[in-house]
Amino acid sequence: MGRSEEIGRIGQSHHWVRGNVPLCSQCMVCGQQCGSQPKLCDYRCIWCQRTVHDDCMGGDLKTENCDLGEFRSLIIPSNYLWAVKQLKRSKNVDYMKLIASMGRNWTPLIVLANTRSGNNMGEVLVSEFKGLLNPLQVFDLSKTSPFKALQLCSILPPNSAKVLVCGGDGTVGWVLDAVDEMKIKGQENFIPQVAVLPLGTGNDLANTLGWGAGYAGEVPVEQILRNVMEADSTKLDRWKVQVTNKGYSLRKPKVMSMNNYFSVGPDALMALNFHTHREKTPSLFSSRLVNKAVYLFYGTKDCLVQECKDLDKKVELELDGEKISLPNLEGIVVLNIGYWGGGCRLWEGMGDEPYPLSSQTSIVTTKRFTGET
Ligand SMILES: [Zn+2]
Ligand SMILES: [Zn+2]
Repeated sequence: MGRSEEIGRIGQSHHWVRGNVPLCSQCMVCGQQCGSQPKLCDYRCIWCQRTVHDDCMGGDLKTENCDLGEFRSLIIPSNYLWAVKQLKRSKNVDYMKLIASMGRNWTPLIVLANTRSGNNMGEVLVSEFKGLLNPLQVFDLSKTSPFKALQLCSILPPNSAKVLVCGGDGTVGWVLDAVDEMKIKGQENFIPQVAVLPLGTGNDLANTLGWGAGYAGEVPVEQILRNVMEADSTKLDRWKVQVTNKGYSLRKPKVMSMNNYFSVGPDALMALNFHTHREKTPSLFSSRLVNKAVYLFYGTKDCLVQECKDLDKKVELELDGEKISLPNLEGIVVLNIGYWGGGCRLWEGMGDEPYPLSSQTSIVTTKRFTGET
């Protein structure tokens, strides 16, 4: 198959839509500003985002091949999805050719947004990313589960996909658990790399990976896509935490996955209180600043310390099968990452090294943002 044919197979022409041209756009034909009149005028291609005056629009532009613009390496073209559908029942060899035709630099991005995080920022992001990418690659996690959304990876070239999780650390954990499920179901070759756009409070994982503590619309979404394209990957240890009763008990051990840290004692109680209150009166916790203040308030309550007295006598801690002797303190925090409790750096200014955590359970590749942090 010739190269031009390969491109022709996936190639698609511009998709011009009249109006909705962003201010300060430039006409791709005459180079002058367009979209400046206060009426429905001029055209924008929904794939490459190029803009053209009504008067400059010609027949050539309507049939010209669209290169999908700046974000072509992240976009999943509709024609690709159509071709996969056609090839589903045909021989594997055609499918391999289709994949090869997309080129090696194609790293399609799946956006998973928690629309319940960070006020209505999640909703804003869903609509903005749908405008810049194929709407079919942008998912609202209140409507589609991460595992279901990640099934899109299985029709993309192996080891090519990236995922941008828009939400808090809890949302990231939810997506990483879905990635684990993909491994269990034999989809190792389709596991995506994970990038994070932190929303709301308590984004310690995102902070550790260099994605910042919280996004509230400070930079345009185009810049976020550029950051995703430029990011390096890094590996993250993930732990399985099992809680068992020491005495005779019919209760099954509780097993959880840990990405950031786990804690027992006043700190844990503080987080639990915070969570319970937020569930009860969400309106009170709508601002990130208020959230932080409330978190701090819970942290200073002396009664929490009282409730967690003699913890070292009640709890036994084992890491990697090794029993850890607990100091006579009020609480225990086991860290996997550098940030803790919504932006504190625990390891700074401390003489003692934390317990060295070794690699354990599944390892997931995450993305580190190399630019400014
Ligand atoms: Zn175009
Ligand atoms: Zn023009």
